[in-house]
Amino acid sequence: MEKINVAVNGAFGRMGREVCQAVLDDEELQLAGAFDLQGIGEDIGEVLGKKKLGIVLRNLSSEALAEGKIQVMVDFTTPMAVMDNIKISLACGIRPVVGTTGITQVDLKLIEEWVEKAGLSAFIAPNFALGAVLMMKFAQLAARYFKHAEIIELHHDQKIDAPSGTSLKTAEMIAAGRREEPQKREELLKLAGARGAVAENVHIHSVRLEGLIAHQEVIFGGLGQTLTIRHDSYDRKSFMPGVLLAIKKIASLKGLVYGLENLLDL
Ligand code: NAP
Repeated sequence: MEKINVAVNGAFGRMGREVCQAVLDDEELQLAGAFDLQGIGEDIGEVLGKKKLGIVLRNLSSEALAEGKIQVMVDFTTPMAVMDNIKISLACGIRPVVGTTGITQVDLKLIEEWVEKAGLSAFIAPNFALGAVLMMKFAQLAARYFKHAEIIELHHDQKIDAPSGTSLKTAEMIAAGRREEPQKREELLKLAGARGAVAENVHIHSVRLEGLIAHQEVIFGGLGQTLTIRHDSYDRKSFMPGVLLAIKKIASLKGLVYGLENLLDL
């Protein structure tokens, strides 16, 4: 079987390194390029603490993308860079698999246009962990019976964007699952932001602390009871099965697909 040639953008970063290792460990995939703004000129094998692989970290450019017969580009960079990366990737005929968060609804519309123009497909997931996808699905189901919900999302202190892409997606799914909107009550805020941000009538509280990876609690409140659904990623490896699945499935997808749940039999 022919291997799928995969490049990783953000390859010097925390997620990018995990993806490079996961691609190297998968016999159906071939690591065909490593891009980043950091570590330029370093061999990705050595960056991963292994022997040299002959793949050197470079800046992303159309010239660099034209080499290595890259078929899929995985992007784990920053919310500021991701749109340009998706655009250049599609313009070069390469399908993007994107985990970078901070992509808005307006951005998604634009990406849809680029995907259509390129006649390719693109895959974006705010969370590649299977447990997180199930947590969102369970939250959507619970929302049918509990109209009041709040989200607490907790991440490591290096995360730039807030609230997390997963919490926003969860709020959307709760809204889709609700049969009735929660009533708004008047509140006296003694400190701005005390009740967090609000998306789809769901309050979202963002915690950023050293020691955390990616965690989320969805708390539903009802008469005399609460229901808490919680997911914890203790290791970035938790995202890898989802990333590998997306890489392998993207060629058979049509247009822009958003969310890992679309690749699973849920
Ligand atoms: P990170 O360690 O900061 O890595 C990002 C890397 O991308 C850095 O080396 C960064 O360089 C580089 N970069 C920035 N702009 C770039 C550009 N234009 N071209 C190429 N490389 C560029 O961050 P991380 O923890 O790996 O997270 C990366 C992203 O993945 C974040 O958005 C995070 O929220 C998201 N994430 C998603 C999931 C998921 O399941 N979907 C899971 C975990 C994390 P500089 O340091 O110079 O900026």
